[in-house]
Amino acid sequence: MTAKKLNKAQPAHEYKFFDVVRGYLDHAAKTVDLSDHVGKILSQPKNEIIVNFPVLMDDGSHKLFKGYRIQHNNMLGPYKGGIRFHESVSLDDLKALASMMTWKSALMEIPFGGAKGGVKINPHNHSKPELMRLTRRFTHALGANIGPEYDIPAPDMGTNSKTMVWMMDTYMNTVGHVEKNAQRRIVTGKSIVSGGSHGRTKATSQGVIHCLVEWAKENRFELEGKTAIIQGFGNVGSHAAILLNKLGVSTIATGDHTGYLHNPEGFFPHKLAEHVRTNGSIAGYPHGEKISREEFFGIEADIFIPAALENQVGVEEAKALKVKVIAEGANGPLNPEGENVLLDRNIAIIPDVLANSGGVTVSYYEWCQNKRSERWELERVDEKLHKAMIDAYHRVMYFARERNVNPRIAAYSLALQNLSSAYEERGIFP
Ligand code: NAD
Repeated sequence: MTAKKLNKAQPAHEYKFFDVVRGYLDHAAKTVDLSDHVGKILSQPKNEIIVNFPVLMDDGSHKLFKGYRIQHNNMLGPYKGGIRFHESVSLDDLKALASMMTWKSALMEIPFGGAKGGVKINPHNHSKPELMRLTRRFTHALGANIGPEYDIPAPDMGTNSKTMVWMMDTYMNTVGHVEKNAQRRIVTGKSIVSGGSHGRTKATSQGVIHCLVEWAKENRFELEGKTAIIQGFGNVGSHAAILLNKLGVSTIATGDHTGYLHNPEGFFPHKLAEHVRTNGSIAGYPHGEKISREEFFGIEADIFIPAALENQVGVEEAKALKVKVIAEGANGPLNPEGENVLLDRNIAIIPDVLANSGGVTVSYYEWCQNKRSERWELERVDEKLHKAMIDAYHRVMYFARERNVNPRIAAYSLALQNLSSAYEERGIFP
């Protein structure tokens, strides 16, 4: 099996991510005996918004871009979810990702629904001024389809606090002077100076690590001295490596859209993160040996944290992995066939809907702070997140044991129980 073949085994455009998520939904629906009508409602997003908008390029030309916002469900609160800038963005993927936001908010008992949006671009091919104009025009094109009590975007792949601040500023400047400051919570994941929350940047990774620590305690697995491999070294991947380092776990291999690196001694994560901030990728980092994607998946380590795209682990990768536990920082990194191989091999999986829900949880804290014009200290945010993650982790694992389902189905099931109670109580209008 060559690296090329591994890459070729799962071209993104042939992968029906939304069908995969609906497969998990069906399994969970049976597990909790979900009413037919609630299952039907949740099987599709409420709104699928597509906008085409022009952007002035640096060379003076104008280009038309297509942007999406998928609003899956708002039964428990405003639509909530990230904005992705990536060349693989598609309606199908965003429908899957939007629905996963609904499950995450419901599982974490946060008063939000689920949404996701994006633009099909490679952000690395655009200058900062182009990205700013694109973000602003996209926000303007979405117009009243988003709002601080209606639909609240956040960062995802290819976007960051800068993108969120541009979105916020554009939105704030469209609503008039008196109401301007009340609009700050139109997005979360902002920089601190523009109204972001302490602890938001690392929140997703922090949540992953809290789950990993709980898993290690449950399984009498000493984390100190162990090794990890991490796919993706952006926001989630880099902070995961930094937090693991604090626990004495060294990251010995990583990779991104430019390739993969191996360092058996362990990377110094702050330095690698700094290199990525300066250069846009891990390419050219001197302290590691270049390896293929195939070699990356075959490296012997204790922990694997996927923190890039969906559908990265199919059957071949699942057979190759030599780790004891996978904590899903990315959304949907394992395809169902790959997951079955891993389950057969008794490799523990801490599923995305649980593991990476620290992001939306601290986004909720940011939104609350903005709403009350407050600023919480990092310790307060960290403490609340810790409590929320531990609670969710144990609820999921307890359910999985009680009902004899895997943790992914347990996480979906708990989310469905919450949503279902709300639907049963409120009924369907009219
Ligand atoms: P990011 O843009 O900061 O980083 C993404 C990383 O993935 C980069 O290192 C990029 O080079 C790499 N990558 C892109 N294409 C790749 C490819 N084909 N092969 C290998 N690597 C590739 O994004 P992020 O915010 O860190 O998000 C990563 C994952 O975590 C996504 O699945 C996202 O949905 C999920 N997630 C993010 C958050 C958040 O708060 N940012 C919250 C929950 C889940």
